[in-house]
Amino acid sequence: MDNKYDAIIIGSGSNGLSAAIHLQQKGLRTAVFEQASIPGGATKTLEVTLPGFKHDIGSAILPLGYASPFLRTLPLEEHGLEWIFPDIPYSHPFADGSALACYKDINMTADQVPEDAKAYKSLFEPIINDWPHIENNLLGPLKWPKHPLKLSKFGLKAFTSAHSLVNHYFKNEKTKVFFYGSAAHSTLPLTGVASSSFGLVLTAMAHKYGWPFPKGGAGKFIEAMLSYYKSMGGEINFNQKITHIEDLPEATSYIFDLTPKQLLEIKGTNFPDLYRKRMGNYKYGAGVFKMDWALSEPIPWLSEKCKKSGTVHLGYSQEELERSENSTHYHSTNKNPYVLLAQHSIFDPTRAPENKHTAWAYCHVPNGNTRDYIAEIEAQIEKAAPGFKECILARSTMNTQALENFNPNLVGGDINGGSQDITQLFTRPITKFSPYSTPNPRVYICSSSTPPGGGVHGMGGYSAAEKVLRDHF
Ligand SMILES: Cc1cc2nc3c(=O)[nH]c(=O)nc-3n(C[C@H](O)[C@H](O)[C@H](O)COP(=O)(O)OP(=O)(O)OC[C@H]3O[C@@H](n4cnc5c(N)ncnc54)[C@H](O)[C@@H]3O)c2cc1C
Repeated sequence: MDNKYDAIIIGSGSNGLSAAIHLQQKGLRTAVFEQASIPGGATKTLEVTLPGFKHDIGSAILPLGYASPFLRTLPLEEHGLEWIFPDIPYSHPFADGSALACYKDINMTADQVPEDAKAYKSLFEPIINDWPHIENNLLGPLKWPKHPLKLSKFGLKAFTSAHSLVNHYFKNEKTKVFFYGSAAHSTLPLTGVASSSFGLVLTAMAHKYGWPFPKGGAGKFIEAMLSYYKSMGGEINFNQKITHIEDLPEATSYIFDLTPKQLLEIKGTNFPDLYRKRMGNYKYGAGVFKMDWALSEPIPWLSEKCKKSGTVHLGYSQEELERSENSTHYHSTNKNPYVLLAQHSIFDPTRAPENKHTAWAYCHVPNGNTRDYIAEIEAQIEKAAPGFKECILARSTMNTQALENFNPNLVGGDINGGSQDITQLFTRPITKFSPYSTPNPRVYICSSSTPPGGGVHGMGGYSAAEKVLRDHF
């Protein structure tokens, strides 16, 4: 069939653009259709508080974008991307004013708690050393590993709960809390199977690469991807909400950067009932309550380590963090939430007017919960940075409904395109030989609802594009 396009990509998130770029690089004729007026999905930078203050509405810290086996091959620096590496990737303050820092240097990090130093290194050094051999298995669909021993060594640590892992490795409560801070990125209960996996990967990334972010805002990452895509002849159309395959030009393949709920709503896909039923059972995870602040000065952290960190994890004991992450799953209320905070303007003056600052944070909440968590989040920051509230010039908040209005992929405020528990970690959206294909041989899915899940890494898009190439070209 002489179609006008080889592939149409629906949605311009980091996965949609990765699929489009990979196919365009291979000489295919592609076009992207996006419902919003600007690209990027959950990776956008907007002035939502005061003029001149640039806030990342969704993703903000992009270690996976920097380290992604696909994205790191793209000439994004030639298209305007500049990476900024904070002095310290992340830190975790405690109620006594002290903090533990995750330095890029693993020895400096481990030496902060002498009684756990050996265990810390024995936990992370093998992952850091083995990373080049296991990254394709961890950031792609289930496949037979080239290095099964190295992968199983990682798997033994990763498939356990963060709770069991810290109690096995560490003696000091502060080291345990410190690991919980990165493990809680999973949005899973910290007592749940595989909740340690995110902490292991993200901390290994911090030691291997750092936790960088794009100068000027996460949106600059998307701008660079789009500029590269267009430079190869790729086309993008905005304000095009697709509801029917017939809304789109004729093409050999259609790749949807959507989650299962939305894909099932698209008409004309001719999916059989069994596939619809299995996709209909897909589980969405916890949501988030998102905050951005315009600040008169940097956050007045008690700890010097926090002042030099790009990201700060808040949660003051093991018990508090466990309760927080359990409550989001069991729909109970929680007064002391785990808070994930980023402070870009300390390292990137382009984010705010001269001598002014920005801060970005969220806490996890039950999926679809629309309660306001301003007081809880700000109280958690105040404990480690007394006087924070006096620095606030303006704030912007988004509950789960506002997030979903902003981007329909954020179903119930879920930022990872679906729960990342053990049943959906590698077998998303359903257990299937190729998770990117569907029963319709022309329709594919490439969003974070496919392996490897949430995060700006583009690997879902890349793997879906590989499947399209194998099937049709
Ligand atoms: C608050 C928040 C904080 C986050 N923090 C981080 C972080 O610090 N680091 C990190 O790596 N990740 C982070 N993430 C996760 C990351 O942003 C996502 O995993 C990533 O954006 C997923 O990319 P995607 O391409 O799969 O989907 P999306 O980015 O959601 O893109 C999907 C696109 O499809 C479009 N679309 C939807 N329906 C239609 C339709 N019918 N027709 C046409 N277009 C449609 C949407 O408008 C959107 O542009 C965060 C997310 C959020 C929300």
